[in-house]
Amino acid sequence: MAEKTQQYIERAEGALLHTYNRYPIVLDRGEGVYLYDIEGKKYLDFAAGIAVFSLGYNNPEYKEALKDQIDKLTHTSNYYYNVPAIEAAEKLKKVSGMDRVFFTNSGAEAIEGAIKAARKYAWEKDGCTDHEIIAMHHSFHGRTMGALSVTGTPKYREPFEPGIGHVKFAQLNDFDSVLSCVTPKTCAIVLEAVQGEGGLMPATEDFLKRVRALCEEKDILLILDEVQCGMGRTGFLFAWQRYGVKPDIMAVAKGVGCGVPVGAFLMTEEVAQHSLKAGDHGTTYGGNPLACAAVSKVLDLFEKYDLLHHVREVSAYLEEKLDGLVSQFDCIRLRRGAGLMQGLVFDRPVAPVINEALSRGLILINAGPEILRLVPPLVITKENVDEMIGILEESIAAGTGSCGEGSL
Ligand SMILES: *Cc1c(COP(=O)(O)O)cnc(C)c1O
Repeated sequence: MAEKTQQYIERAEGALLHTYNRYPIVLDRGEGVYLYDIEGKKYLDFAAGIAVFSLGYNNPEYKEALKDQIDKLTHTSNYYYNVPAIEAAEKLKKVSGMDRVFFTNSGAEAIEGAIKAARKYAWEKDGCTDHEIIAMHHSFHGRTMGALSVTGTPKYREPFEPGIGHVKFAQLNDFDSVLSCVTPKTCAIVLEAVQGEGGLMPATEDFLKRVRALCEEKDILLILDEVQCGMGRTGFLFAWQRYGVKPDIMAVAKGVGCGVPVGAFLMTEEVAQHSLKAGDHGTTYGGNPLACAAVSKVLDLFEKYDLLHHVREVSAYLEEKLDGLVSQFDCIRLRRGAGLMQGLVFDRPVAPVINEALSRGLILINAGPEILRLVPPLVITKENVDEMIGILEESIAAGTGSCGEGSL
């Protein structure tokens, strides 16, 4: 490893809390779909800062909008109105069909807000404090205590229990498992229309529609976590729009700011009228003019670039190429996901493949030990896909040893 990189890594490990086993590169700048480390090495980025940089790096219009806002005002607190927040909220309303927006600083905070809204909605109905939430196994909703409490991966959750309590876990795409968790105390069902961290598993249309109908019937709120699968990643601005299943509350973050830390939870007027009122929820930074200028510009650029159309086209090509790898390599069991949120499920740990790819200038991440996750910037081209596939092919061959080529 180069000396400069080595020195920075030593300093990082001396100062930062070691909650991540990081890859041994120090990133310096980005341009389009490429990143450069401090040694000047170039990487094709198929991780996008974990499904964040939808527009790619160093987008001039996005950068300009942020710089303009920095020159004017970056923070006001929520005691006052600011124009970027008004504009961003109106744009989010328009593209989602939801009615009210609360800006947060992260995805976890958006989920926290959604949980609070659901509990308050139930509390307003009966004055009780024993309401239950149904969440999914293999879900991921963030690292704060509330979000963690509805996260279906025991490894993340168990060391920190007890959580908020009154949470039951059902199986995605198994409607009966949801039904068996429902009680008169159920106030919300929270799920990702395409599970991200949990393994790139899409919910089926039938499952989502039945859950929606169940919620309707029992006055249970449907909370959809669109933090990873939203903002165009599946070829629809929000993954649920593909099925026409509208949530009562929705959480967004990651791609909504394209690099500025911002999230939001949105709700219908019906939920708003009967849940969080003045004084019930707040945040110092949430919805500040800088973050909202980012959201606003991101939404404008999605439209300007016709990004959803692009995602549908390029993701069809990506799927075809990934399916080629599945038939080429015995150690890849299958591909799953939606749009530019794809997973290759291996029969062994993928860490060696990721490391081989990194050394060849391709950034990839995993979702669990045996799933390779591809969540590139939404602006990638077919040529970028070809470049990625070429490097990935070599990396699989080098990283899996006995995996080898299939017997085709
Ligand atoms: C990343 C993620 C979160 C948490 O977002 P943070 O911004 O890291 O707090 C929540 N839900 C889903 C589906 C995510 O992918």
